[in-house]
Amino acid sequence: MSGCIFCRIVSGEIPSQKIYEDDRVIAFKDINPRAPVHLLVVPRKHLASVLELGPEDSDLGGHVLHVLGQLARQEDLAGRGFRIVSNCGQEGGQTVDHLHFHLLGGRRLGAMG
Ligand code: 5GP
Ligand code: ZN
Repeated sequence: MSGCIFCRIVSGEIPSQKIYEDDRVIAFKDINPRAPVHLLVVPRKHLASVLELGPEDSDLGGHVLHVLGQLARQEDLAGRGFRIVSNCGQEGGQTVDHLHFHLLGGRRLGAMG
């Protein structure tokens, strides 16, 4: 999707501080970090949110979670704890309509909601 900011990051058209990439996902630093570690894990495939994941994407979902766990380890968050968030829709606080997962950690996070 040419107008989608994360598609443009995936394609390299917009620069990002990339932490990890493979054939299905990329991970980069959030431009407006809300915690000492704030990464975004983004499928290369454009899906607006989890609502667009189909049965053909079940491997992708599992892979994203696996990458999130590996990145948490890599960022030394495994022993102290962290949070994974995927905002969905207006009331969920989603501002970029390309499926992504926040990995947040490095400080004690406040209560959810
Ligand atoms: P959402 O609000 O949809 O859950 O998360 C979108 C996230 O993308 C926000 O935390 C925002 O700071 C981040 N973001 C928006 N535009 C850019 C960008 O151009 N580059 C990077 N690295 N992050 C971005
Ligand atoms: Zn997109």
